[in-house]
Amino acid sequence: MKTPELQSVLTGLISMIQMSLSSLRDTFTSHSHSRDFAYARGDYLRNRVVIVGTVFLALLPFWALVDWLMLPAASLSTALVARGVMLVALLLIILLAYYSKARLQQARLSAGLILVTPAVFYAVVLFTVSNETTSLIGYSFIPYMLVAMLAIFPFTLSESALLGGGLILLEAYALHIAGVLLTAEGLQAIWLLAALLSISITANYFQLGLMLRLYREATHDPLTSLLNRGALARTMEQLTTREPDAPRALLMMDLDHFKRINDNHGHAFGDDVLRNFAGILRRSLRPNDLAARYGGEEFVAVLVNTDKAAAMAIAESIRTQTEASAINNYDGETVSYTVSIGVASFQPGEGFESAAMRADNRLYEAKEISRNCVVGV
Ligand code: GH3
Ligand code: MG
Ligand code: MG
Repeated sequence: MKTPELQSVLTGLISMIQMSLSSLRDTFTSHSHSRDFAYARGDYLRNRVVIVGTVFLALLPFWALVDWLMLPAASLSTALVARGVMLVALLLIILLAYYSKARLQQARLSAGLILVTPAVFYAVVLFTVSNETTSLIGYSFIPYMLVAMLAIFPFTLSESALLGGGLILLEAYALHIAGVLLTAEGLQAIWLLAALLSISITANYFQLGLMLRLYREATHDPLTSLLNRGALARTMEQLTTREPDAPRALLMMDLDHFKRINDNHGHAFGDDVLRNFAGILRRSLRPNDLAARYGGEEFVAVLVNTDKAAAMAIAESIRTQTEASAINNYDGETVSYTVSIGVASFQPGEGFESAAMRADNRLYEAKEISRNCVVGV
């Protein structure tokens, strides 16, 4: 292989490894997930809990029938009571999931519980029913089924490892009760469960990684990497539902005479200016604030837990940083640009569209007054 070819293969390999590592970080825990993705994952989790829970509920009478046909009278009543408790638990979990819209922790909890409930049922059965019977009627499949089911949910790798680890311990306990834990049979069972868990975790890695990539592409502007207009509106809807009265402010920003920049320096340089402004915006906001590219050279920021005075100060700081910016064009000349900003505070319970309209009117005033200024009331 020639040196340039080898170099390009190596570069390709290195970028693949870098991508895998960053995907591993994104899928291992949810710490690096943006708030909008966290909401979306919560929604995926709750939808799946409702579906899986309903399937469990539909199957429950058939399982109870099998119990009735197969179990000795002594164990039957305990198993049926356990089934009854499971029925109630499943209904409660489905309700918990159903009412967990825009609440990630609640959705995660419901997804964990939908798997923990059959595991608890299995543990109860282990105490009360003899080994031969549990194998006969398929109870002993429960840990395997639950470990495989981890792959259905968009769990992070650490969530799956925690749940899967618990299920392996449960199986080890079952094998211990049967007196076969430290035999070839017992070790093979643990080994099989661990292999199944690693397959489920790999499926989680690909599922969550793909979901994150598609979600990022669908919700972010490719030029500036800020949120796009649709994603901002959706995130704001969720924020308003959760905390309708929290103090927050909206900045509507439009670059001044941007058409002139494009005309004088070219469209590609115009793109550089848009990226430069996105950088100023990102550096000026706090982690929980939202920044979006609203249209061509129009941007919106939502400042959370911010009163009007603080919002005006942040807007003024963005304006002065923009004015002070100096970007080199393709002829090596230094070009600067300015921004006009309209500021509006959300009224208690006010929706995004209405606050945006007020900020937009103030932006219009800023353009009328002189451009390169901030208008709020
Ligand atoms: P004003 O100060 O009144 O806002 O004037 P303006 O020239 O900034 O406003 P106008 O709406 O007339 O022009 C906006 C320009 O932004 C026109 C359009 O070609 C340009 N634009 C929109 N999207 C992009 C983009 O993605 N890249 C580049 N380079 N230009 C864009
Ligand atoms: Mg403009
Ligand atoms: Mg404009």
